[in-house]
Amino acid sequence: MQEAIQPKYNLTKVTCACGNNFEAGSVKQELRVEICSNCHPFFTGKQKFLDAGGRVDKFKKKYGI
Ligand SMILES: [Zn+2]
Repeated sequence: MQEAIQPKYNLTKVTCACGNNFEAGSVKQELRVEICSNCHPFFTGKQKFLDAGGRVDKFKKKYGI
């Protein structure tokens, strides 16, 4: 019964659309994100993206960046 209290957290490999990889604690096995702290203008301070096959452009259009 106590098994349900703690979900299985492990290190998940997170892959960003910019090509950056990092690890984060998650219950998921693998994670794909469109933007990360490495390429987000909020963190970089500039609107420069490493385009990975137009995926970032699509994301930018969708959110009007
Ligand atoms: Zn990124």
